[in-house]
Amino acid sequence: MASRAQGKTLEYTVCNLCGNDQTRTLFVMQDYLFNKQVNFSVVVCQNCGLIYTNPRPSQSALKEYYPKEYYKSVLRVGQSHDDWLKFRRRYEQTFQFKRTGKILDIGCSDGGFLEFMQGRGYRVQGVEIDKSCVEYAKAQRGLNIFWGCLKEARFLDQSFDVVVMWDVLEHMPDPMATLLEVRRILRHDGLLLIGAPNIDSWEAKLFGSEWFGLEVPRHLYHFSPSTLEKILKKSGFKIMTITYSTEGSMKSSLLLWSHKASIASRKKMSTGHERTSLSNELGLWLSKTATMLAKGVLDVAEDLFFKIGNHPYMTVAAVPDDKICWTNR
Ligand SMILES: [Zn+2]
Repeated sequence: MASRAQGKTLEYTVCNLCGNDQTRTLFVMQDYLFNKQVNFSVVVCQNCGLIYTNPRPSQSALKEYYPKEYYKSVLRVGQSHDDWLKFRRRYEQTFQFKRTGKILDIGCSDGGFLEFMQGRGYRVQGVEIDKSCVEYAKAQRGLNIFWGCLKEARFLDQSFDVVVMWDVLEHMPDPMATLLEVRRILRHDGLLLIGAPNIDSWEAKLFGSEWFGLEVPRHLYHFSPSTLEKILKKSGFKIMTITYSTEGSMKSSLLLWSHKASIASRKKMSTGHERTSLSNELGLWLSKTATMLAKGVLDVAEDLFFKIGNHPYMTVAAVPDDKICWTNR
């Protein structure tokens, strides 16, 4: 759906949900992880409310924003207690609707979740675009993983009972096309689970452009419960449930905010303006100390906010909408 190419590294696109190109800019920001000096805008569609990154990296430039360091952090998945708790929660969300069957994990990373599900009796298969993750999942876990994107895998119609997309849909250049492909390969009585950051959350509003969930430009789309429901409906699904969680993103947002403040402070130091370097060092130290103290308070605050509602992470369970009789089996 991309149009109006700007050079080789950026491209503009129309709204993936309604095709409109009338937008309002919410934020202009850069990649905070790898510090590339390129500006991206986060815009909202004036017609349907979908929020997306525009301009964004072109298809050919996108891989520059997924260097090896990015996947190195991903490959730690599956080795901590937090990951085990996350897998357990996702297993329960699956089991609630589908107790057996064949699962496809799109963007399965190193296969941690699939291995977890295999251990609970499901048949599993993955799709992953990163070669090192695929090699790890095959060699270390013995899993069946297709290396490439979903369409390239050319799965047969109605191949799967469950399709899961954890933290993946927002990375896709054309989520509508992806969901239509999922619709084709999912059984009529199948289940689709999508986990994504919630742009409509209190945390996103509080942190603005420093909200961890934006992750521009790797996140090309920034869904809310409303826009996720619209795009699912348009691609042939209906939502059964939406469950919310925090995923510890508030701490990540605070660290990102602190990181940006620290970079801004260093820039001021290097220009020789503003305060002396000693007072700048003191300012940095105070900032870091305040951050450490705030992290402890945040654990409590995050829990309190979670009880209030409007949470930063959502998991949607959806089913094909032409299904006549939904059975829990
Ligand atoms: Zn739109």
